[in-house]
Amino acid sequence: MSPKLSTSVSTTIDSHCQHISPKGNRCHMLTDATHRPANGAARPTLCAYHADRLRASIPAVNPEVLAAELLGEIDDFSTAGSVNLFLGNLVKQLARKRIARRDAIALAYISQLLLNSLPALEREVEAVNEAEKEAEKFAFARRLRERSRELASLGNQQSTASPSVACPDAGRAAGPSKDNAGRPS
Ligand SMILES: [Zn+2]
Repeated sequence: MSPKLSTSVSTTIDSHCQHISPKGNRCHMLTDATHRPANGAARPTLCAYHADRLRASIPAVNPEVLAAELLGEIDDFSTAGSVNLFLGNLVKQLARKRIARRDAIALAYISQLLLNSLPALEREVEAVNEAEKEAEKFAFARRLRERSRELASLGNQQSTASPSVACPDAGRAAGPSKDNAGRPS
């Protein structure tokens, strides 16, 4: 029973224009059978009038060409500069009426989102850098500890091998005499 109901509903929708006015009113005209929908829909979805209006609102510019002109030298949108460049290109294309207003608005909105995400991106990069610096510091401290341990064990070996070198009296005795020898009297 329910499949039958949904079929009848969808038939009514398909035979009528899908255009909805800004006030939310659905167009009551029947769809134009000669209109080939560009959005990949199997059947025409607009009446002759709205199909014409849609055609007029979409400029006849090759999408690839438009994309190349919009993107230009931009590789990614990871900097405010690249997003700004893109917006500038977008304004140029809109001024020349090479891009549909709705597409331009959508792209401007996406650009805004990209700009909003930049501070978070920067924080992320900073956090990664900070973590790398921390890791470097930690590794350096570890190397330092290892080196001092090596030196200490080396010193212990030497002191056990020849006690006279580590004898504090010998060092103290040698110190002042060296000082006296260096000073002209
Ligand atoms: Zn219509």
